Amino acid sequence: MDEYDMVIIGSGPAGLTAAIYSGRQNFKTLVLEKALAGGTGLIVPLMENYPGFDMISGRKLIELMKIQTMKHAEIKEFEEVKKVEYNGDLLKISTTKASYMSKSVILATGSKHRFLNVPGEAEFLGRGVSYCATCDGPLFVGRRVLVVGGGNSAAQQAIYLDSIGVLVAMVHRRDELRAEIYLQKLLEDKDIPIIWNSELEKIKGDQLVQSAVLYNIKTDQKEEVITNGVFIAVGEIPANQVAKEMGVEIDERGGYIITDKGQRTNLPMVYAAGDITIGNNQWLIACSEGAVAALSAYNDIRIKK
Ligand code: NAP
Repeated sequence: MDEYDMVIIGSGPAGLTAAIYSGRQNFKTLVLEKALAGGTGLIVPLMENYPGFDMISGRKLIELMKIQTMKHAEIKEFEEVKKVEYNGDLLKISTTKASYMSKSVILATGSKHRFLNVPGEAEFLGRGVSYCATCDGPLFVGRRVLVVGGGNSAAQQAIYLDSIGVLVAMVHRRDELRAEIYLQKLLEDKDIPIIWNSELEKIKGDQLVQSAVLYNIKTDQKEEVITNGVFIAVGEIPANQVAKEMGVEIDERGGYIITDKGQRTNLPMVYAAGDITIGNNQWLIACSEGAVAALSAYNDIRIKK
């Protein structure tokens, strides 16, 4: 069984940064990723708040980070971690393909999108329903779509779709957005309509999406809106299954991993970083937590020796 100093689970901004920091301490480092490297970072349309880049897409930044990471660590994609357990002084990481031993583990498993669970959502997935504007937006150029949600992701997706020529309107359940003011101003500047106080009740169609039924919570009225697509961006839920099963302490309300300032969890030699931890889900913060986690592991292992 291959043995590592550090195994990082997840390869979003937190996982890749942790790998760079770990590898640079001469730690034999492995990153395990269940899909393509990048995680939800891949679906960020455009970032304007990452220092050093006036504007960069998530996909591009991940591409650059991945190249940099591979100088310092090994990345295995499409290999899902199923279990992490202690084996003597080491941790044993079992995946869909193999098992590895490691002196330390960083959980950087991020989050997954929340479903609305309305009729038509699952049925029309890939046939008009999407959770990723950068992946599916180009299919809707010149056509009508609704973006459901009022946070940063919904606002970013709506702005991106508008920028590529999709006829976009937002649907939000309240009369005020949660998105940051900068994004709200962009929505206003671009005249992107917002259907306020409305919940998506049903998605209808034949082979493809044709309309959506909205329920206005203020007027108690329903309206059927003609649309070719529905992009759902109603928040994220932490991908905490591996952490939960191995006994990592998790906050009961949100399901996020609790860490100390060094990104240490309650379990020895197990650290967590990025959107899986309590705190702001921001690219820069994920990177910072990844760096801190790797340095803590390095220092803790040195002290142990
Ligand atoms: P979010 O900030 O949690 O916003 C989710 C939105 O969906 C909220 O507006 C919420 O409405 C709405 N919503 C939730 N459940 C709903 C339901 N059942 N029906 C209808 N609407 C519902 O999620 P996010 O936008 O995906 O962002 C996730 C995290 O990533 C946040 O911390 C965010 O700040 C961060 N992020 C940051 C950036 C950036 O820095 N530019 C970009 C993207 C994401 P209410 O407002 O009424 O609760």
